[in-house]
Amino acid sequence: MANQDQYQTQDPTKQYPQASSEWKQQQDEPGLQKEMTPVPDCGEQSYRGTGRLTGRKAVVTGADSGIGRAAAIAFAREGADVVLSYLPEEEADAQEVVKLIEEAGQKAVAVPGDLKDPSYCKQLISQAVEQLGSIDILANVAGKQQYVENIADLSDEQFDATFKTNVYAMFWLCKAAIPHMKPGSSIINTSSIQAYSPSEILLDYATTKAAINTFSKALAQQVGSKGIRVNVVAPGPVWTPLQVVGGQPEEVLGEFGSSTPLGRAGQPAEMASAYVYLASQESSYVSGETLNANGGMVSP
Ligand code: NAD
Ligand code: MG
Repeated sequence: MANQDQYQTQDPTKQYPQASSEWKQQQDEPGLQKEMTPVPDCGEQSYRGTGRLTGRKAVVTGADSGIGRAAAIAFAREGADVVLSYLPEEEADAQEVVKLIEEAGQKAVAVPGDLKDPSYCKQLISQAVEQLGSIDILANVAGKQQYVENIADLSDEQFDATFKTNVYAMFWLCKAAIPHMKPGSSIINTSSIQAYSPSEILLDYATTKAAINTFSKALAQQVGSKGIRVNVVAPGPVWTPLQVVGGQPEEVLGEFGSSTPLGRAGQPAEMASAYVYLASQESSYVSGETLNANGGMVSP
């Protein structure tokens, strides 16, 4: 499924295959990307760096798979050292990313743990500072999505875990990282089309994604005078483990992304440049913004 080179002009409707019945599959949370069919494209073969993040130190959550993995690979190929956060069960995916970062000539520091635990969040940031010397980029990409059709069946435990993973961890990580960030640093959070067009079966998840947008706009105002920028990437339907571990009903995966104007699901590789842009000096006058990368769906 690999795209040949990120700069090759292509018809975006045909750049990647459409979902098919082959895409219907299930794994237990959090899932392994290497066991998906087809395996998502995170830019392993296509992302070509041009030195846009030379010397930067980045922390990426959810760096083992999907969109976080695509961002981690891109950051490294642009010249950044990367601290990777992921769950211990995802070691097999994470080790592939460590190898790719090292092949790009950059340092990779693996710090597995549970983001629902505030002490892990603090430890992740202190490990980053200890091992890399500073933090210039914090990309909060990790997320939890479990569909539930009826509010009566949405447990307090799930509601809490979704908010802990998607909102509290972002808060804890920003709080811990900002004291270490010099002017020119960048925080990038991850929202979703779900923030504006919520699916009825993603009540808890969609609500967190709206919170992430608002949190980021408020924080951007607070830290602007420190020379720190805060922005958001809001993907549309992207083929990642999140979708096959209970993020969507299995029966809809065969048509995943087909209702977007571009007519297909996105691949994680197509999100990477958005994170790189918001991390780099190229976006020096952009803060409090949400960059939507969603196949053309209407967003505010
Ligand atoms: P993914 O499954 O590859 O990534 C999610 C990652 O979150 C996991 O790899 C895991 O490492 C991490 N994670 C989850 N719970 C954790 C916990 N308690 N502690 C530590 N790490 C934890 O899926 P993805 O789609 O690449 O998701 C990345 C982000 O993109 C999420 O924030 C998601 O909400 C967002 N997003 C995805 C889509 C999509 O269609 N795939 C659309 C919009 C937004
Ligand atoms: Mg994963």
